[in-house]
Amino acid sequence: MQQRSIKTKLLLIEDEEKIRKILKIYLKNENFDIIEAEDGQMGLRMFLSLKPEIVVVDLGLPDIDGKEVVKNIREVSEVPIIVCSVRDDDREIIAALNYGADDYVTKPFNPEVLLARINGNLRRVVVNNQNTTKEFLINGPIKIDLLKHEVLIKDRAIFFSPKQYNLLKHLLVNKGKVLTHREILAEIWGRAYLNEHQYLRVQIGNIREKLKECLGKIEMIHTEPGIGYRMDIIDDENEIKSTKIVTKKSSTNSTKEITSEAQ
Ligand code: CA
Repeated sequence: MQQRSIKTKLLLIEDEEKIRKILKIYLKNENFDIIEAEDGQMGLRMFLSLKPEIVVVDLGLPDIDGKEVVKNIREVSEVPIIVCSVRDDDREIIAALNYGADDYVTKPFNPEVLLARINGNLRRVVVNNQNTTKEFLINGPIKIDLLKHEVLIKDRAIFFSPKQYNLLKHLLVNKGKVLTHREILAEIWGRAYLNEHQYLRVQIGNIREKLKECLGKIEMIHTEPGIGYRMDIIDDENEIKSTKIVTKKSSTNSTKEITSEAQ
């Protein structure tokens, strides 16, 4: 990851002092300016007055629910929001993502994993701001011609059914972001289909097959188990920069995981 020259203002809303302390030390070294809030109300006040560039919020807060914090911020801002939750509490994470959070980490987490998520989301905002045109959506080897409704992979036109096209387009528009099953089903199939996970699974499988035919082993659509899917941001065809790879690498690192004493 390229070193950022200007400090990025990060709001950390977390009630456990131990976690705040560790993250503050770790992220300061990575050129972040950390604003700390120990509960949800304080977090919201600080958000409005200090305008951070990214927010990390714990879902288990002493005053208001972390999901409420996400919802309140999302009503006024598009800032990237990463939620932290105790391990395996998928329902909480899914609800937070549906309220507008962009990503998640589960406790106990390795600070490097959180850093990868933070950098991935900051990068997503930059890439999306740069690459937005009315005619094309591009992610590495995939290019969607929005006027012709055509998908080009490595400059070759590939047929996608209307559902597959819409789904692939939705993944490209939201590349780098975790999308929940519900969110995708509502967007592509409509609200009556929120529980039809099978439809989504089948079409994701079809899209993966077509991508595989053109790209070989490169896996651009990642499954977030129990949560949904994420399309990696790819800078060019030869380079796969996935948050997944970073995560895997860092999990073998000796950096101690941050554990949570209480939610
Ligand atoms: Ca907590």
